[in-house]
Amino acid sequence: MDTVIRNVRLLGRKGHFDVGIERGVFVRIEETIHAHVREELDGAGQLMLPPFIESHIHLDSVLTAGQPRFNESGTLFEGIQVWSERKETLTREDVKMRAKEALRWQVAQGILHVRTHVDVTDPKLTALQALLEVKEEVADQVNLQIVAFPQEGISSFSGGAELLEEALRLGADVVGAIPHFEYTRELGVASLHTCFELAKKYGRMVDVHCDEIDDEQSRFLETVAYLALSHGLKSRVTASHTTAMHSYNGAYVSKLMRLLKRSEINIVANPLINITLQGRFDHYPTRRGVTRIKELWREGVNVSLGHDDILDPWYALGTGSMLQVAHMAVHTSHMTGREEIDETVRMVSSRAARTLGVECEYGIAADKPASFVLMDAKDAFDMIRRQPPCTLVVSRGKVVARTSPASVRVIQDGKEHPVTFARPFAAREENAAQS
Ligand SMILES: [Zn+2]
Repeated sequence: MDTVIRNVRLLGRKGHFDVGIERGVFVRIEETIHAHVREELDGAGQLMLPPFIESHIHLDSVLTAGQPRFNESGTLFEGIQVWSERKETLTREDVKMRAKEALRWQVAQGILHVRTHVDVTDPKLTALQALLEVKEEVADQVNLQIVAFPQEGISSFSGGAELLEEALRLGADVVGAIPHFEYTRELGVASLHTCFELAKKYGRMVDVHCDEIDDEQSRFLETVAYLALSHGLKSRVTASHTTAMHSYNGAYVSKLMRLLKRSEINIVANPLINITLQGRFDHYPTRRGVTRIKELWREGVNVSLGHDDILDPWYALGTGSMLQVAHMAVHTSHMTGREEIDETVRMVSSRAARTLGVECEYGIAADKPASFVLMDAKDAFDMIRRQPPCTLVVSRGKVVARTSPASVRVIQDGKEHPVTFARPFAAREENAAQS
């Protein structure tokens, strides 16, 4: 056997385990592995979990905040205008340099699957060509999916449909749309038909920026779900944001939920960005503008979470951490119950694997690729509360990142007290937490 990592905890399982890896694949997970091993690593009782998954990011616009100016109103639409001005100065090198830096931030924080949207309302498709190159260059570490995203519309942008199709010919993995940004409701619906026809023609998945507006009349989600059902694309379809759902009335949500379940589509919520962008036209009380994460999850709809933006015209903060995203979801969606907090970790891991369609190669189990992170945490609840760093990140058996956790000491009563912010667990509580 190539490598054994000894003494790790696994989410949802009691006790400690040894994990054996051969040629980049998990081969054995047992309490104690007795075998001839080339390399042994001490897991020191840390939690081993599959890598985090970023369901929704814009790697073409990352790290551009303030260029050429900041988004002063904080609205989605001023963000699109600022980006449109910055887009004129894009070069392939500029996009690649920023995207690869953001990917390093993601890898450092244990993210090894990334779905990025790329703006294709650019006659030169500069950002798309740059990200297709980045995808190849990072392929040994990160599985990068590219969504051809018509930021300024399909029907409302000159040549929008042709550019979208050209992006698919060049190799984009997923077709996008932005119906709430089209000039009229009718053009929005037409843009969705174009999107789904292209998905069928090129055999691609669909991921729509859908109803990212506080307008309770924005109802493109029902069209996306119906097209997913009628084209038989179902779980290969994702609706991102769906923030208008925050404002829908209860009777309509009840009718919509039936269709969402039947359609089997995925919903991606971006709580960091939508708590920031939405509610900007409200007087007090101000809406949160985050989709109904908890209600969708309870109804059995697959929900995963995205960071969406890092230091760009829509969100000037962020480091790319999926634990920060989950932490924000806990707060904005009142998911503070014990089971609910655990669920937000699934929304940045196993549920996101379903959104990206990578379930067959994802998880800590024999015959799966040996991709994982180690973290000094007791369980999912502890991860969300303390947000500890990934001490080790491994992609297909190869170490791709290491972090040495900070050593904190408080000097009190003439002594040094180490502080980790961990709760001193009683044995009984610890057993309960692991069950
Ligand atoms: Zn987005």
